[in-house]
Parts: sequence; structure tokens; C-alpha cells
Amino acid sequence: MITGKLIIITAPSGSGKTTLVKRLLASSEKLEFSISACTRNPRNGEIHGKDYYFYDEDTFRKLIAEDAFVEWEMVYTGKYYGTLKSEMQRIWDAGKSPLVDIDVMGALVVRDKYPGNCLTIFIEAPSIDELRRRLIARGTETEQTLEERVNKAIHELTVAPNFDHVIINDDLDRAEAELSKIVESFLLN
Ligand code: 5GP
Repeated sequence: MITGKLIIITAPSGSGKTTLVKRLLASSEKLEFSISACTRNPRNGEIHGKDYYFYDEDTFRKLIAEDAFVEWEMVYTGKYYGTLKSEMQRIWDAGKSPLVDIDVMGALVVRDKYPGNCLTIFIEAPSIDELRRRLIARGTETEQTLEERVNKAIHELTVAPNFDHVIINDDLDRAEAELSKIVESFLLN
């Protein structure tokens, strides 16, 4: 088994991480999105095998029993997410580096499984008020899930210093430029 470089991007929900990840993937042929498995329902327009591998809970549990995951977690109440070993290997075998977009705790687990060849980046919204505003504007949350995401974000911010880089997403173009520079330099060395 040959492993290569690995890039982990994480952020509290509502930090603008997904947009930054999409832009980064579009700008670099050396990177490929690592598709996670999850048990939540697909949102409008999401495709199995592109955005996530959408599985029911039984299938997900079977994968846990087979030791198929680098890490897995119940990220939100009743919803499991996990990084598949086979997915990372598929990308390395294609001569590329996986870009892993996962939650903060999962990011630390993956990093510790692949020490040495891993770049970890934490994306932060300018403030909790701004993060809350962005989540409301996105229109995907109920009052209860909004509070769950905001409380999780407050806790996750305390873990930010454990990452190689923290990027404040105050302006999308500026944050994208900073992110690209960090990733390019990691891939070159
Ligand atoms: P969403 O439901 O909004 O797509 O994702 C919710 C959260 O789960 C995001 O923070 C996302 O990065 C995280 N996530 C996605 N895939 C994985 C994974 O494989 N493992 C872990 N631990 N978190 C993940």
C-alpha cells in the first residue's frame, strides 16, 4: 500500500468551507475530493458517489464492522459520517492527493493516522455572530439544528490552534488566495 500526501480542511458549519473547497479543487489537478460516507439524506442536487456515499444505517454499521473507515463519527444527532480507507487509496493510486473535508474532531483523528504527510487547515468565520447570520441565510436549518451547529462551532473554535494553519474567511477571494498559496507550497515540497 502506497500512501501519499493528504490535505485536511475543516471548519465549523457556516464558515464558508464548502465554497473554498470547491474553488480549490477547480484550481488544482493534483487534488481530488475524498468522498465521505454518511447516513443523512441527500440534499437537493446532491449525488451518491459524488458528494457523499449515502448509506442507510445498517450498511454504515457493516462498514464499521469491516474496519473500512479511517475514522467515523456521529457528527450530528443520529447522523453518521466517515472517511473510507478505500477512498483515500483510490486517490493515491491515481497519483493525486486526497482533499478531506471533515468535521473538526474527525480531522484530528485522520491527521494522527497519517502523521508526517498531512497538511491541516482550519477555516474560521470572522465571528460567531457572522457564522450564525450565514447559517440563517443558507436556510437549511431549523431553530434547533441552528443552535446545535452554533454550539458545536463555539466548542470547535477552541481546538483551532491544533491545526497547521488557521484561515479567517472574512473575504472569500482573499481567503481563497491564502488557501491556494498554502496548499501549493505543501504539494511542491
Ligand atoms: P453536511 O451534513 O453539512 O454535509 O456536513 C456536516 C459536517 O460533517 C461537515 O462539517 C462536514 O465537513 C462533516 N463531514 C463530512 N464528511 C465527514 C467524514 O467523513 N467524517 C467526519 N468526521 N466528518 C465529516
